[in-house]
Amino acid sequence: GDKRLRLPPWLKKEQVFASENDNVKRLKKQLGKLKLSTVCQEARCPNLGECWGGGGEGVRDESIATATIMLMGDTCTRGCRFCSVKTSRAPPPLDPLEPEKTAEAIASWGVGYVVLTSVDRDDLPDGGAAHLARCVHQLKEKKPELLVECLLPDFAGNLENVQLLARSGLDVYAHNVETVEGLTKWVRDPRAKYRQSLAVLKHAKSSNPRLLTKTSIMLGLGETDEEIRQTLRDLREHEVDVVTFGQYMQPTKRHLLVREWVTPEKLVGDSNY
Ligand code: SF4
Repeated sequence: GDKRLRLPPWLKKEQVFASENDNVKRLKKQLGKLKLSTVCQEARCPNLGECWGGGGEGVRDESIATATIMLMGDTCTRGCRFCSVKTSRAPPPLDPLEPEKTAEAIASWGVGYVVLTSVDRDDLPDGGAAHLARCVHQLKEKKPELLVECLLPDFAGNLENVQLLARSGLDVYAHNVETVEGLTKWVRDPRAKYRQSLAVLKHAKSSNPRLLTKTSIMLGLGETDEEIRQTLRDLREHEVDVVTFGQYMQPTKRHLLVREWVTPEKLVGDSNY
């Protein structure tokens, strides 16, 4: 039978697509022209209007508008069981013009914060590190006041690549542990390891203490409260500055089932976490 849990009411309410203000419309048009993909559009994110519009309905502050761009193509060499990005052992080669093109586009937008994310490219000798660092360089050269967050792969634990990115000029070094240690092998691609991710985060911080390190944990995959607390202790021990929590949502029927809808009260209200 269908073992899927029904959507709880607090999530149903959120499934309304935010209205499009002028900033959103302009960004969409430019992205289309440049053939850049954004996670926001690919995932049909319901918060798109709020992020791109700069503060949500009625608010027109372009400097707080955020866009999320996906680099190095739309095909990943890994296959995590929560993620619906396409997978291949040998994705198409990198576009050598991507750093320049992306930087030029983003610098021209009315956004004050950008999140650069990417697929994993285990097929490339450096995992794409030099390419990603070039993207950040170009961007900071064109618009130094722009705040840049990069959500980066684990580079298979290669700390030289981590250091290259940590010193590339980015402001926030993000790498997601995704879940608690005990569930890692069920949730993430087998090449992704919990301890390896912690080591990556710690190395990013020690390579450049001025940057913020950030990670994200999905909830609702069957983790216990104690496992969450242990994860937070591990993250603190590895000097991670920012942790975000998100409800896991099953992207397709072939992906992991949602085991629990975490209530908004638990997400924000319990100071014991
Ligand atoms: Fe998705 Fe990232 Fe896993 Fe690739 S490495 S399958 S993009 S979560």
